[in-house]
Amino acid sequence: MLPAHSELWDWQLRARCRGADSTMFYPPENTRGPVRMRLEFLAKDVCWQCPVLQECREHALRTREPYGIWGGMTAKERALADHYAVS
Ligand code: SF4
Repeated sequence: MLPAHSELWDWQLRARCRGADSTMFYPPENTRGPVRMRLEFLAKDVCWQCPVLQECREHALRTREPYGIWGGMTAKERALADHYAVS
């Protein structure tokens, strides 16, 4: 039986990034180099202390979320993890 819809998303209510600056988690497309790295570092620092990191990461990997930092991983890191995943 599939879980109720709210069960799929309840973990987001405990997300440490709620209310955080979205620029950290979704750096503008034209952001490159040290500026982008700093934004990603700041977002990941929030993620490492998040009580729902695992749920968030699993969701992003399962749905192949193409943008932003989820579960402490950038979109590029998730794509690499997906590429090398053993099926
Ligand atoms: S792991 Fe990071 S992106 Fe995911 S809910 Fe927590 S703080 Fe937000």
